Amino acid sequence: MKLYVLDGGRIEILDWARFQPDAGPGVRRWISDSCYLIVHPRGTLMWDTGLPDRLAGVAEGHTIPGVAVFHVTEPLADRLTALGHPPHEIDFLALSHFHPDHVGNVELFRGATLLVQGDEYAAAFGASPGDHGFDPQTYAVLRERPVAPLHGDHDVFGDGTVVIKRLPGHTPGSQSLLVRLPDTGSVLVSGDLVHSMENWTRRVVPTFNSDPQETVRSLELADRVLAEENATLWVQHDLDQQSALRHGPAFYT
Ligand SMILES: [Zn+2]
Repeated sequence: MKLYVLDGGRIEILDWARFQPDAGPGVRRWISDSCYLIVHPRGTLMWDTGLPDRLAGVAEGHTIPGVAVFHVTEPLADRLTALGHPPHEIDFLALSHFHPDHVGNVELFRGATLLVQGDEYAAAFGASPGDHGFDPQTYAVLRERPVAPLHGDHDVFGDGTVVIKRLPGHTPGSQSLLVRLPDTGSVLVSGDLVHSMENWTRRVVPTFNSDPQETVRSLELADRVLAEENATLWVQHDLDQQSALRHGPAFYT
């Protein structure tokens, strides 16, 4: 089994207080937007898809007024193809949640079965997706794709090595990914359970969040998982931590 860390773009947050309420007004902060490819003997899994490839090379990026500026350097499709796993050949597409910075290239994975929590899918395609920060235009194609709605944790390949963990709160059906790597050890890939290592250490509940009480419970559950598994938390949006990881074509085993 191989775990590849991939750059899904970078984001300049224009008001960090949305994610860390005591940050003070108007604080800007750069965050990473990592996504991950797992190549397992029984299939391939993509975890999140970053920002849209069409932003690659757009110098000024894409601004969401008052919220963030999205930047992409290298198209995800190019990187995956260079690794020998072009997006249309990926077996499973698992999304931590449906926010725009995680669904940027979902249309490319046209042969993949979608692995998302049933309530997340229902919210994304329900009457008021905007209530959860979703933009239906960014993932409309998924309505036509095969989906395996999950209702809790899910052992993707049936051998315990890659397990989706239901950790709701940031959105109705947010999830994280536990990967039990024989050499590296276990890693819990955060999704947006937290948006920085500092927020994890302080157990911060973001303002931009669906259900604060659920988030508190999920933070406690994640803490127990990390202890039981002796796992490392990888925070997808923590620029310092993610920048220090090996990126594809290098990988973790
Ligand atoms: Zn995010």
